[in-house]
Amino acid sequence: MSEKTLFTKIIEGEIPADKVYEDDEFCAFRDINPAAPCHVLIVPKKVIPKISDADASDAELLGRLLLAANKVAAQLGLAEEGYRFVINCGENAGQEVMHLHLHILGGRRLSWPPG
Ligand code: AMP
Repeated sequence: MSEKTLFTKIIEGEIPADKVYEDDEFCAFRDINPAAPCHVLIVPKKVIPKISDADASDAELLGRLLLAANKVAAQLGLAEEGYRFVINCGENAGQEVMHLHLHILGGRRLSWPPG
């Protein structure tokens, strides 16, 4: 069996994290190195290393990921002022953790385009 990912260890409680949401399919917790006043990662429990590894069998999961992320953003009080979703894929995007996750960023005006 392959080594558990860092995020699987967080989901399973082996590594502590500030969890803000969990259901059967997803877990959301605060980023340890926040890039905005509110920075939460939402992670599917199913390990897909990168978004580019997703296939047609993941289509509904990915749709539910966006809806769950909206729900978490609303729960965090971000809905009115707005927020950003980010998925980093691979080296040029700086992906550090090879377990698909979506960043939810908010709580201040976010610059665009990103650096
Ligand atoms: P990415 O660059 O998209 O792979 O993002 C990985 C994110 O995981 C980074 O923003 C890190 O700050 C965050 N991170 C790494 N380790 C932890 C941890 N133990 N708890 C919470 N967030 C973490």
